[in-house]
Amino acid sequence: MITRLINRNNNNLISTLSILKFNNNRINNKLQTLYYSTTTTTTTMTSPNFKQIVSTLNSITPLELAGSWDNVGVLVEPSTASSTLIVDRIFLTNDLTEPVLDEAINAKCNMIISYHPPLFSQFKRITQQVTSQRIAIKAIENQIPIYSPHSSLDAINGGINDWIARSLLNHYLTNDNSSASPTNSTIKPIQPSQLPSSSSSSSDSHKLTINFKLALLSEESQKAKVSMISQLSNIYEGLRVSDYVIEITTSENKLAQLVRIIDSNSSIVESWNCNQLVLKFSNDLVGQGRIVTFDGQGLTIDQAIDCVKKLFDLKYVRLGRPLNGKEKRIKSIALCAGSGASVILSSKVDLYLTGELSHHEILEACAKGNYVIVCDHSNTERGYLKEYKTLLESKLNQPNLEIIISKLDSDPLSIV
Ligand SMILES: [Zn+2]
Repeated sequence: MITRLINRNNNNLISTLSILKFNNNRINNKLQTLYYSTTTTTTTMTSPNFKQIVSTLNSITPLELAGSWDNVGVLVEPSTASSTLIVDRIFLTNDLTEPVLDEAINAKCNMIISYHPPLFSQFKRITQQVTSQRIAIKAIENQIPIYSPHSSLDAINGGINDWIARSLLNHYLTNDNSSASPTNSTIKPIQPSQLPSSSSSSSDSHKLTINFKLALLSEESQKAKVSMISQLSNIYEGLRVSDYVIEITTSENKLAQLVRIIDSNSSIVESWNCNQLVLKFSNDLVGQGRIVTFDGQGLTIDQAIDCVKKLFDLKYVRLGRPLNGKEKRIKSIALCAGSGASVILSSKVDLYLTGELSHHEILEACAKGNYVIVCDHSNTERGYLKEYKTLLESKLNQPNLEIIISKLDSDPLSIV
């Protein structure tokens, strides 16, 4: 959608981005789709190489959004990955255990995206004694690179925590709460991104990448290329030019001019894309954890439990009730997928929802008259893989690329 907008009328792009910037973070599937669409446009139709995949992954989940403690991005890079590897089957998993790695190998996948980083601790040797190192060794032996988005996927607009928050809000708005106003119900990050949020349209906020056609052999096309570079240089001095690619980091208010030049040189341009840089992410939309507030009377605890069970496909969850015995409707929820204690517990809400909390953290929350729902760590994360698969398919837009989700991946704990 955004490709057409950009090519047809570049002012539309700028106004669209402005809408995104000032989006008040209400449930809005159209805006969600728009957000995804602004980050990249690709026209290549053959199977992408590894570098192209990584570039797209990093545009979806900028690694700067990950916690400083985290270990994200390309974690295993076999020798072929940086040169010849064409990716035609990506394997998605929440946790890359040894059985899951064997599953990926047997499925003939040539790239693995593991939500949790399989390598985390520093090490001075790589041996068969440590599980994570055995996994890395086997992946390298099978020429399979591994990428992990982890907490950057938690943080983005439309990421794991938004998936949970939006499901709760949708459940509320569609279950006998007709008096509630969707526009007065909100979803906000608990810990907004600490990255600088520039509101100035004159600061560098976008990266344009222009790919020339590979067969620019004629003198005429070479002249056209030189002319195009000259035109671009008149607007922006910081061009990075190689034989077939130009990269430009530019401000929003120069985009329209730049795109007009690209359009006027379509005979020598194979494709181009425009990535919105992290600096422009709104702190209203991006960050760790989410607080959902409901307009109106709020959810009952049974409604909240019902929604959580359906979303995570669980028969049972663990519930902590207010220790004062006073049942109440839930008008606000602090949530964080995985292990969310450090993110959610300082918020004043009626319900805390996460994968795991300690005994004393649960006691303290319930002593304050609140509810707690814990579901075991990865049960709060794994269901998002389907959403992630859809997101990747739309962003990569490669008919020859297959993305499959692990069947063996599961939480290590079960209720028996
Ligand atoms: Zn986790």
